[in-house]
Amino acid sequence: MRPESLMMRYGYRPDWSMGAIKSPIFQTSTFAFRSAAEGKAFFEVAYGLREPDEGEDPGLIYSRLNHPDLQILEDRLTLWDGAEAAVAFESGMAAIASTLLTFLRPGDVVLHSDPLYGGTDWLFNHVLTEFGITPVGFLAGSPPEAVEEAVRAAREIGRLAMIYVETPANPTNALVDIELCVRLAREAGDDVRVAVDNTFLGPLWQHPLKLGADLVLYSLTKYAGGHSDLIAGACLGSAELVSRVRATRTFLGTTTDPWTGWLLLRSLETMKLRMTCQMENARRVADFLAGRPEVERVHYLGHLPEGDPQRAVYDRQCLAPGGMISFDIRGGEAGAFRFLDALEMVYLA
Ligand code: PLP
Repeated sequence: MRPESLMMRYGYRPDWSMGAIKSPIFQTSTFAFRSAAEGKAFFEVAYGLREPDEGEDPGLIYSRLNHPDLQILEDRLTLWDGAEAAVAFESGMAAIASTLLTFLRPGDVVLHSDPLYGGTDWLFNHVLTEFGITPVGFLAGSPPEAVEEAVRAAREIGRLAMIYVETPANPTNALVDIELCVRLAREAGDDVRVAVDNTFLGPLWQHPLKLGADLVLYSLTKYAGGHSDLIAGACLGSAELVSRVRATRTFLGTTTDPWTGWLLLRSLETMKLRMTCQMENARRVADFLAGRPEVERVHYLGHLPEGDPQRAVYDRQCLAPGGMISFDIRGGEAGAFRFLDALEMVYLA
């Protein structure tokens, strides 16, 4: 079955919860062990001190480490991206920060596409720098030679540990060629990870892991949450890499809580319907804007012309244009503010 069908029940059994067809909200801080030996065994597995034995239940310990609404959510998230494992966080920034802290060390260089979501940009340029990690940016949408040159420049500064890509970029919708970044990372060394922030098109219309990326990151606050009532994030990838990120999460304490986990399970059931409708609406809005004299330029993937190098990247790695639009309006800040302050249905949020 496809992920949208599996969102109703995958990873949950009613006999765990007195027959309830929906997973309850397991609003508990901690879990009881049947014996001291069982508690010891659970901790050994959770802390990575040993692999679980064949068929061994890894066991619930404490809601910062694991809880049912979290584990069902993580299992369901893997389906969309075809990931081996997922780890969920209390925000997109928590997912990004915890992942970066797992793989970057003082002296390392991280090459990243530009622009980035503002919070991520701040993390790179004002927080990681305090820990001796050097960010080097390249412009999203620049030709392959420019990306190759950026890799060379980054490697001259220190050990290149990661290529971090946000594609499409917030807010310009500029695309970065994921397969190119994967090739350059592999040429630079086995332990150079490629991480992709897939918030703008995923998990429906872009699958970076299938293009060779090591890690996929999400702000689940957006499409996945979908109701503007929660903040959450996720990191997906191979079981091996994700278990390292999970260990970081345990000690930073950036775990999704039971209530948010439950809200996301609710949201995932309708995600494909919502995202598909949002995409259809976005096309109408983008077409309308493109025909208006007040609008200088519309940044929308569905309008990329044939022959544009960005169109070639789009055709290779995106399955649909999604719902994100930005546009430049004539008249500078005054013109933009006049437009914004005249909006009636859309909040300035
Ligand atoms: N990545 C992108 C592309 C975003 O737009 C955002 C938030 O706007 C984030 C990451 C951060 O996510 P969160 O706000 O859930 O921490």
